[in-house]
Amino acid sequence: MKGYIPEDKVEEIKSRTDIVDIVSQYVTLKKAGRNLIGLCPFHKEKTPSFTVRQDKQIFHCFGCSEGGDAVSFLMKVSQISYPEALRQLAAKAGVVLPERAVSRSEKEHLSIREQYYRVNGLASAHFARNLALPAGKAAREYLAKRNIGPDAIAMFTLGYALDSWRNLRDYFEKEKISLLMAEKLGLLVPREGSGSYDRFRARLIFPIEDTSGRVIAFGGRIMGEGVPKYTNSPESEIYIKGKHLYGLYRTREEIRRKGFAILVEGYFDLIALWSHGIRNVVATLGTALTHEHVDLIRRYTQTMAVIFDSDEAGKKALTRSIDFFLAGNMRAKAVVLPDGYDPDDYVRTFGKERLDETIKQAGSMIDYYIDHVIGERKGLEEKREALRQAIALTKTISSASERDLFVRRVSERLGIEQDVLIKEVRQTAAETAKTTLQAPKEDKKVSIDAVELQLVNIMLNFPEQVPIIDDSNVLLYLTTNDLKGLGELIIETFKQNGKINAIELIKTVEQKPVREKLMLLLVNDSPYDETVIDRVIVDTIKKIKQRWYKERRKDLQIELRKAENEGNTSLSDQLVLEQKKLIQEEKGL
Ligand SMILES: [Zn+2]
Repeated sequence: MKGYIPEDKVEEIKSRTDIVDIVSQYVTLKKAGRNLIGLCPFHKEKTPSFTVRQDKQIFHCFGCSEGGDAVSFLMKVSQISYPEALRQLAAKAGVVLPERAVSRSEKEHLSIREQYYRVNGLASAHFARNLALPAGKAAREYLAKRNIGPDAIAMFTLGYALDSWRNLRDYFEKEKISLLMAEKLGLLVPREGSGSYDRFRARLIFPIEDTSGRVIAFGGRIMGEGVPKYTNSPESEIYIKGKHLYGLYRTREEIRRKGFAILVEGYFDLIALWSHGIRNVVATLGTALTHEHVDLIRRYTQTMAVIFDSDEAGKKALTRSIDFFLAGNMRAKAVVLPDGYDPDDYVRTFGKERLDETIKQAGSMIDYYIDHVIGERKGLEEKREALRQAIALTKTISSASERDLFVRRVSERLGIEQDVLIKEVRQTAAETAKTTLQAPKEDKKVSIDAVELQLVNIMLNFPEQVPIIDDSNVLLYLTTNDLKGLGELIIETFKQNGKINAIELIKTVEQKPVREKLMLLLVNDSPYDETVIDRVIVDTIKKIKQRWYKERRKDLQIELRKAENEGNTSLSDQLVLEQKKLIQEEKGL
């Protein structure tokens, strides 16, 4: 598959792609010196250790050691193959790739996941076409009645599933799509015995996309009365409810622009707000908020306004989600709408400005929690329960001053002496510390020679110096095999192309610790100035050779002693000669 896109096209794609643009779609980057930093999408973290170097077009995470270029970033973040990543970058950069029919063997190579996305994409387009058919009239009228216009329909690729048990199935059959695959995606439901039928019938269809814009599942809503009101795709290999948010792919730019995200409970609410011009919205998909959701949003913003119902269920949902926000270092506001209103009703009744204002005026989630959840507890037992909850929550607040404030206000609310509460909190904190404090796992030690590492790092950073290093034959003196191999590869590549691609070369290194060290050095600024680099190279080469001679002399000395002890005079004479030669050579360094 790797040769699938011609090499010159690959070069063109890479040269017209800016890693900062690509990464920015998934991570909010901030400037830090010459680097851009953000929260790593590949591991969980509260302070940014994910670093992008625009001048070198690479990324590296100091937390989890992921690293590479724009292509590898896209592959990893979207879990797609190398050719697929290149194709996406080509589309973005406006590089036209030669159109080629997909051969049978290539089709087999297309990863299963990509085939799933394709089937969902076809289904989505099919539903969208249905909506425009005469049979979709009722659905169109329903949307119009809910103020959902053509732009929202187009933006969210809304569709319609006909009132039929086999409309989609027939379409798939005609298109020679694997029905088994459609069953696995939940688009078709297997019949007992054999055969299958359409899951979605006579429903409005909301395709659910991941953060790369691929359709991963569908939501279906009935238009009149009836149950169930909503039907969603079951979870599949590409869709896990608690991990995905509806709309994020379409609204993330606006979220970034506005600096915060509004969280609602379903796709209808999201589209209603979007249609009224409130576009920094995401929605959960019929599940309670999870910490994975919070992690996902945190890639784009650290501020949220969560719209809750004012009923008991809403308060419960708030209590459940509050520690995700605290633990995720998210500033969250609790927007509570008047009784009986959901965001759709509210914005339709009172308009955009009023909702904007309500969101603006909303207090923090912690305030709401203290006032309405803890504050309304009556009686000793209820208060004790509230206290237990509050103490559990304090553990997740990472900022000490915020924690103190929280404790003070909870104690005021519950009428408990602050000292008593603080003591209680400290005690639980100490207990947790005891159980969670473990020595960090240590990586298997691989000794990497610092001077040799420096040499190879220079070769990667200053390829124009490669010929000088080649002439010195210094690579023959390296003792770390991985570095020696990489050094040889750099020389070879430079001789052939007159340039090198540092990332690609580093990737060939076998041992992970060596690879990571090199990546790390590449991300960091080269400590050498152009003006002193000649001097540094001469010194480094000398150091490596000197050390080699020293080792060699030691070995010779041991051999010589052994030969003398054994009375092997011819060998010892030879060794003495060699020793002299070695010292001579060393002097000439
Ligand atoms: Zn990381």
